[in-house]
Amino acid sequence: MGKKEDIGRIAEQRIVALYGQAKKTTDGELSHAYISLLRNISKHNRKRIPPQIKNAFCKSCDRMFSKSGSSTRLSSSRGYLSVKCGYCGKERHIFYKG
Ligand SMILES: [Zn+2]
Repeated sequence: MGKKEDIGRIAEQRIVALYGQAKKTTDGELSHAYISLLRNISKHNRKRIPPQIKNAFCKSCDRMFSKSGSSTRLSSSRGYLSVKCGYCGKERHIFYKG
């Protein structure tokens, strides 16, 4: 196990921790700040954001769907969920299997 791997693991832990904070806070701007930060960590460390976290926020404005007043539509024939961000209006398709 090299040093690089350790850094990767720390980065992942920080991403998960920041997401937990973003989810917990009732302050929309603070939540936004946490999401921006975790995305930066992911970028700098070339660490992928776990899918369950990635699907929970809007990529164009870094705000959590659960806090932006988003609307979700199920497109079962195509196998995805369509989530529209309540903040910037961007639509996102979340694919699922089955
Ligand atoms: Zn958005």
